[in-house]
Amino acid sequence: MSTRALFREDAYRTQCEASVTAIDEMGMHLDQTVFYPLGGGQAGDAGTLTLADGTKIVIADTRKAKFEGATPDDAVHVPAPGQEEALSLLKVGDRVSAEIDWERRYRHMRLHTASHLMCAVLPYPVDGCSITRDYARLDFATVEPIERERVEARLAELIGGAHDVNTEWITDDEMTARPELVRTMSVKPPMGLGRVRLLRIENVDLQPCGGTHVRNTGEIGGLRIAKLEKKSARTRRLVLELV
Ligand SMILES: [Zn+2]
Repeated sequence: MSTRALFREDAYRTQCEASVTAIDEMGMHLDQTVFYPLGGGQAGDAGTLTLADGTKIVIADTRKAKFEGATPDDAVHVPAPGQEEALSLLKVGDRVSAEIDWERRYRHMRLHTASHLMCAVLPYPVDGCSITRDYARLDFATVEPIERERVEARLAELIGGAHDVNTEWITDDEMTARPELVRTMSVKPPMGLGRVRLLRIENVDLQPCGGTHVRNTGEIGGLRIAKLEKKSARTRRLVLELV
């Protein structure tokens, strides 16, 4: 009952029709989805599932499925609390219309793409990363001082440079042979499906990533460093916000 991850083919797709393949204590499983499940540091999507009779189920979050044999693409759509009546109408095999909260997702896409730019601006290993609607938080393993003004100026330059953002695929074996591509120590490359997706920002960055991104760095818009602090003796934490 694998989920087809439509967001990986087209991050701008906001809606799809799907069949309910399972319902468990975590939520609903669909045969295909536009909802991104929490992973790789990026928050899960919220949105709605609309039943054939028009009943809407509000989805508060999306998580990776935990069942035996689940692939990294298998997602669970987690309902917001207090919807027992709507949920009681839903059965396995039902057709639903799945639609994400696009305003929230687009912020994830802009902040996520910005975090790739950060990897180009600060050439240190990343040992923690969290991308939400409101901020991107990155922990860099370095003892070097980080200058806020210089980083903001370089980011603005890369955003203004309007670099194209594209995906490429390599096999799991090719990925294993190129460990230098991995920038984020805390996030394993999305392996296990036989192939790994690489995210290329033209002339800026190349690394394995299964998240959702904008098509061009120009879409990120204004950014500021909201926080820059020493997280530990060997780690600097940086929080980016959209302006
Ligand atoms: Zn990414």
